[in-house]
Amino acid sequence: MDKYDILKKYFGYTEFREGQEILIDAALSGRDVLGIMPTGAGKSLCYQVPALLMPGVTVVISPLISLMKDQVRALNDAGIHAAYINSSLTEGQIAKALSLAAEGRYKIIYAAPERLITPGFLDFAMRVELSMLTVDEAHCISQWGQDFRPSYLKIVQFVERLGRRPVIGAFTATATEQVKEDISCVLGLRDPEILVTGFDRKNLYFAVETPKRKDDFVLRYVREHAGESGIIYCATRKNVDAVYESLCAKNIPAAKYHAGMGSEERKISQEEFIFDNRPVMVATNAFGMGIDKSNVRYVIHYNMPQSLENYYQEAGRAGRDGEPSECVLLYSPQDVMINRFLLENKESNAEYTEEENEAVRERDGERLQKMIYYCMTADCLREYILRYFGERRAVVCDNCSNCKKEFTETDITEEAVKIIFCIRETGQRYGINVIAGTLLGDDRAKLREYGVSRFTSYGSLNGRTEAEIKQMINRLLTEQILVQTQDKYALLKLTARADEVAWHERPVILKAPKYNPVKESAAAGRRGVSASGKRRSDLLNTRGLELFDRLRALRTGLAKEQSIPPYVVFSDKTLTDMCVRTPLNKEEMLLVTGVGETKFANYGNEFLQAIAAFTGGKKEKLYYGESAFAEPTAANRKYFRK
Ligand code: ADP
Repeated sequence: MDKYDILKKYFGYTEFREGQEILIDAALSGRDVLGIMPTGAGKSLCYQVPALLMPGVTVVISPLISLMKDQVRALNDAGIHAAYINSSLTEGQIAKALSLAAEGRYKIIYAAPERLITPGFLDFAMRVELSMLTVDEAHCISQWGQDFRPSYLKIVQFVERLGRRPVIGAFTATATEQVKEDISCVLGLRDPEILVTGFDRKNLYFAVETPKRKDDFVLRYVREHAGESGIIYCATRKNVDAVYESLCAKNIPAAKYHAGMGSEERKISQEEFIFDNRPVMVATNAFGMGIDKSNVRYVIHYNMPQSLENYYQEAGRAGRDGEPSECVLLYSPQDVMINRFLLENKESNAEYTEEENEAVRERDGERLQKMIYYCMTADCLREYILRYFGERRAVVCDNCSNCKKEFTETDITEEAVKIIFCIRETGQRYGINVIAGTLLGDDRAKLREYGVSRFTSYGSLNGRTEAEIKQMINRLLTEQILVQTQDKYALLKLTARADEVAWHERPVILKAPKYNPVKESAAAGRRGVSASGKRRSDLLNTRGLELFDRLRALRTGLAKEQSIPPYVVFSDKTLTDMCVRTPLNKEEMLLVTGVGETKFANYGNEFLQAIAAFTGGKKEKLYYGESAFAEPTAANRKYFRK
């Protein structure tokens, strides 16, 4: 069997995604690998495929118990022998699993890092042929990352104790240069194949909304997406409770999750969500890492997160199956206050010096600032995100709320010059309120106290409203003509770009939405057809959607019987593809994306029968348009011949 056979047989796919093959080939040739790919890009396959082709066992280190459980469940369902070893098992169970593992019963073993150098695990590792050691969420090894876990350092000790060094593979979605270097250096990767794939997730629609009442927005959105699975992230436990209750009051099947709940309650909540019994999850950021639910169709942020790293990771939990999905951030200026408060009250890390802690605080402040600009920018949101993560190439978007909105553009260079002059004249010592008040020529007590009326710029924009002046200042901030200091005073400072504006070398254009952004862009989002695929309702006709619902019900039933999540049976994408192809026999069914040999053996006939019952045993065209699917490619042609 080669890698394509494995891909089709166990995973049901016919083509590798960007970057997967490079990493698989490198690992198979005995080289260490470092894969940096966004959430949902398909990192797991990069070590699961080699694991099945290598002679011995692959050990996968993963920080989260829920992740291990999910992955092992999915692997076993695909016909791959796998097990996990972590604190959710009793010592007796662990001993049993390790002895089975030592007999070579499993190809893949997931383990928590703290397990590695226990005598039992070491004994097992010495006895078997260890082909590959995979470090998932590898950024946890970097002290500079956001999720440093000291237990990850045990991996290094583990490798040192092994007689023979296996291939080491490290995977993460965190892309910063420092974290990348840390991983490579701390893990001691040898001449690794490093692969950083594009961070663009084409199937995700990004939107920033500023609704007057967030609760109304959420309720309307969730109702419009009834039957779909989604996550609503809130900044605080209090918000989680409130949003959860407001949804339950309207009979929406929601679950909630935050660190204030007991572990049993959290576990039940999570399972309710994963099994689609309660497809809407309201949670703090404590929820989600390692949740591999592929059919999350939307992620709403009720509050702005603290950084784009956090945002992209959380929003990225939408659409892991590659189907069009939406990421909506609800912004209000209050979120800035909540986040500043949270950052100010964040505990210092006792392992760092005061200086290092100060550096961390400053970095957090800068990250928050960039997050705020994301919420305020009128430019393409996708491009903003990708630029933040260091991608400079041009992107084709047309799939974010700003690209979908119509803007009026106004040249505000004259006003910008006045703003810059005012900031310079007042000694760069004030924040946005004082500067706006000065330009307005306002007569507030605070301004009198500062004596700003003596400046020439006092009242120089008196024909404008305060809101307009602030909007212009915000534009200058997003253009990085101005910056704000990272302390609680948030003083406005000029950058080198301010000189270019002052000398009329750089025009400043203000973009303002032409119409009500809330209503219209939500609609635009729904209309939005992503570059990578059409929304199900745009692809399937009414009969097609009807068949989809039947297949979905069948999937739920089968999943319940075996107590596994529905998406482990088949993904939404697979069901959609079945509705398009209406397979009537095994050969045709195996052409459906996500249907491999094992999956077919487990569920194939039930789905074939359901399709035949629906179409009367005949082929039926259940989709709009000509041919919805691409012709076979070189990689998958052999399966089309079968
Ligand atoms: P990551 O770990 O990078 O966040 P996963 O490994 O969980 O992502 O993969 C995300 C989804 O993409 C899974 O549902 C997986 O089955 C699917 N996937 C991975 N590789 C392919 C592929 N080559 N073709 C189609 N789907 C794929």
